[in-house]
Amino acid sequence: MLDKLSSSLKDTLKKITRLVFIDERAINELVKELQRALLQADVNVQLVFNLTKKIKERALNEKPLKSITQREFIINIVYEELTNFLGKEKSEIIIERKKPFKIMMVGLYGSGKTTTIGKLSKYYSKRNYKVATLGLDVHRPAAPEQLEQLSEQVKVKCFTEKKEKNPLKVYKKFESEYKNYDILIIDTAGRDALSSDLVKEIELLNKEINPDEKILVISADIGQAAQAQAEQFHKSCNISSVIVTKMDGTAKAGGALSACAVTGAKIKFIGIGEKVDALETFNPPGFVSRLLGMGDIEALLEKAKEAISEEQAKDLGNKFLKGEFNLIDLYEQMEAMSKMGPISKVLEMVPGFSQIKLPKDALQVQEGKLKKWRFILDSLTKKELEDPELIDSSRIERIAKGAGVPTSEVRDLLKQYKQAKKLMKMMKGSPDKMMKKFKFPGMK
Ligand code: GDP
Ligand code: MG
Repeated sequence: MLDKLSSSLKDTLKKITRLVFIDERAINELVKELQRALLQADVNVQLVFNLTKKIKERALNEKPLKSITQREFIINIVYEELTNFLGKEKSEIIIERKKPFKIMMVGLYGSGKTTTIGKLSKYYSKRNYKVATLGLDVHRPAAPEQLEQLSEQVKVKCFTEKKEKNPLKVYKKFESEYKNYDILIIDTAGRDALSSDLVKEIELLNKEINPDEKILVISADIGQAAQAQAEQFHKSCNISSVIVTKMDGTAKAGGALSACAVTGAKIKFIGIGEKVDALETFNPPGFVSRLLGMGDIEALLEKAKEAISEEQAKDLGNKFLKGEFNLIDLYEQMEAMSKMGPISKVLEMVPGFSQIKLPKDALQVQEGKLKKWRFILDSLTKKELEDPELIDSSRIERIAKGAGVPTSEVRDLLKQYKQAKKLMKMMKGSPDKMMKKFKFPGMK
């Protein structure tokens, strides 16, 4: 469900956990990536803009509580704002004890009304309600049969009248029997669009049946169009809940989820498959946690804590000075690197070094190269990372294969590492002298 959005959100937050410095630049980058991920999930541009603006403002202006790190703080802001965005808290359909509590389903053709009735019947039967279904879709051929089959499958009573083409007459026909049930779930006809015919029919049924709950069923694959649809249906029959179906089958579900939430009609369930148990209650905090992989994130934060903190970044500067800098450090640096080379940032923290004017792109690595190097570093064993001297020709070959790059790339990376290390050793001497002797990688 929303796998793509989820994985890009996770990636974005992963980056945050690995950053050495969370500064305005990092936050801008985070916001940009959030925007990209949400837009890809088809969330409305204006909504995305409002959301990310808020995240940015909070990230820049609020101060983290003492007990949490800045990373945890930022991730928490993203979590809170996304949750707010989807409707804050879980809201449930309150089933009143009256016989029957009438639920009417409305929605366009193929949105999943009938299927969802099967799912709801099962859901409420399991919770000890006596459920019956009523088929008022008199237009679609075989609609009654579909509802009958589903009802049989989940073992609830089904009322249909195949020959009758007037839905109100069908409703009236069984009226005396409804009192034997706790919940009556009513199927209605859809159209391709919200036509005046459909509006009239819904208005009439709404008036005569007077349902306790009117659920709009919307398919997630319509993306942002969900908002207009929800608003139109709301106008015609005052819908009280929304169920978004087909969450399993589309990358655009962000559109329907966010669009519905802003109409004020609460999403109560989501459909995540064709089978009768593919229904979930919709709980924004839980949903967002899963989307962001909060479990993963906690683990990541743990790792980040172990790996590097801002204070430790200063230690890294010292490591540089002592020449103890290894490939893990380089890896951390590369992870931390966005456009500007953070090695130069680390250097800024080294006393005496900030005055030296580095050529602007001296320690910068081109973006494409960085990606390849990351693959390479991922192919290294822990031992090799700690002690790059171990890496001989046969290891280079293995590493290149693992990373899917030519061996020359591996050699390049090692060269970069050696040069960085050499630079650090020289810094033990006078920075001035060093500047004369040392040729920075990438310098002509
Ligand atoms: P109706 O015209 O609104 O009654 O829509 P149906 O209930 O007949 O559903 C239309 C199609 O959507 C059927 O093929 C269903 O199996 C399918 N469908 C409904 N809900 C879901 C869902 O949550 N996930 C998936 N993948 N398919 C669904
Ligand atoms: Mg149907």
